[in-house]
Amino acid sequence: MRTRFAPSPTGFMHLGNLRTALYTYLLAKKNGGSFVLRIEDTDRERFVSGATETIYNTLRYCGLDWDEGPDKGGKFGPYVQSERQGLYKKYAEQLVANGGAYRCFCTTERMNELHRQQKANGIALSYDRHCRDLTADETAKLLEEGAPYVIRQKVPLEGTTTFKDEIYGEITVPNADLDDQILLKSDGMPTYNFANVIDDHLMEITHVVRGCEYLSSAPKYELLYKSFGWTPPVYIHVQQIMRDETHKLSKRDGDAYFEDFLKKGYLAEVIINYIALLGWSPGGENEIFSLLELIEAFDISGLSKSPAIFDEVKMRAINGIYIRTLTPEEFQGYAEPVVREASRKAAAECVDFDVLCKALQPRTEILNDIIELVDFIDETLPYDAEWFVNKKMKTTKESSLIALKTSLPYLEQMDKNNFTLERVQAQLSKAIAELNVKNGSVLWPIRLALSGKMSTPGGGAELCAIVGKAQAIKRIEQAILKLEEAIQKDD
Ligand code: GLU
Repeated sequence: MRTRFAPSPTGFMHLGNLRTALYTYLLAKKNGGSFVLRIEDTDRERFVSGATETIYNTLRYCGLDWDEGPDKGGKFGPYVQSERQGLYKKYAEQLVANGGAYRCFCTTERMNELHRQQKANGIALSYDRHCRDLTADETAKLLEEGAPYVIRQKVPLEGTTTFKDEIYGEITVPNADLDDQILLKSDGMPTYNFANVIDDHLMEITHVVRGCEYLSSAPKYELLYKSFGWTPPVYIHVQQIMRDETHKLSKRDGDAYFEDFLKKGYLAEVIINYIALLGWSPGGENEIFSLLELIEAFDISGLSKSPAIFDEVKMRAINGIYIRTLTPEEFQGYAEPVVREASRKAAAECVDFDVLCKALQPRTEILNDIIELVDFIDETLPYDAEWFVNKKMKTTKESSLIALKTSLPYLEQMDKNNFTLERVQAQLSKAIAELNVKNGSVLWPIRLALSGKMSTPGGGAELCAIVGKAQAIKRIEQAILKLEEAIQKDD
């Protein structure tokens, strides 16, 4: 088995394309075959510089390593269509010679006029086959004059064409519905519709996985294979990924590209895991699959005929599951850069990353959740003295004031260079023992004083260790003042 992923370098990697790459990869790997990467860059107008690099980087980052491709080589190269330009003409000429194609000398002006009329009459734009039956003499004369021409496919005017797709079964269309599409442009460049057939054949591709937007072109490909006397590959047209019942996953909403989701803090493994399930069912309850497990489980019989709806909530939940299975070191590797980006103090190394990351891990679903979770690090968020009144913790403003005042000297005694979580805990335990209260009665006011938030990654002791001695003392002193003022006002 030989499969290929054949992206066009037109920008970032759409999730739909990435999923095609994934299925193509899984199919090859599952069957011990080769996964080929081919860059389809014949449409120079849509070419975006840097996009080929994006394709490489994305596939590599996701672990979809190709066996043959532009950078790797292989015996069917080159693997970039623009570098294969010379050979398409030969095949187009072969078709002209055997009656499968013809030269069309229609000028741009004539085509524009034809399309204008078709539009005015409300008919779909197509070619009227004006040059299809030029005589050999007429053609020779035009060639002699140096008239520019394209080569068009000569689709039979009658009968039907049938092709088989692994998901949709046999599809038959009347040939009258197919147009004489351009195979080779006047500059000698092939169209996508021609190049893919030539390349899939020459590269001995056995299975083609592609988006179902290509279903309508498949009969024309089938006819091309027939004209050449070649065997077509097995086709697997996969359904689109939708945002909802009626809308495609669009660039506009920032939710279409692999990069969008990486930026939001999804792990590449999760994106791969989740999109694998969009349109393919592993046939069990399990939804968590590593790439290796996907290879093991993949089977084209699980591919669906109906469009899949992308559910970010679901992908988020899967990301959370992955995050929780990371080792603390792995999590810290992902989390630290986000924390540094979100906080000046963290960027300046003024926080205890070990304590912070340990506290963040169970609260993080996607990495960008961290931004809000660490918003207290640079300074305490604005809060109200009334928040010290907490029924569950049995704290009042008065009890909180006492708790803070009692804790303060225990923290002040500590060495700022040894302000570790264990030591802070030990010191605060002394305050708790001195007051003879429950832990929460002291730790809750400290948490609020240090963050201005009711919910934080880690409790009072962790927050002290995270922000360090100087900040912990300063914030507790500010809270004491705030409480004294509020209590005074109450009186
Ligand atoms: N270059 C085409 C695309 O990016 C590939 C389609 C195919 O797989 O044949 O959509």
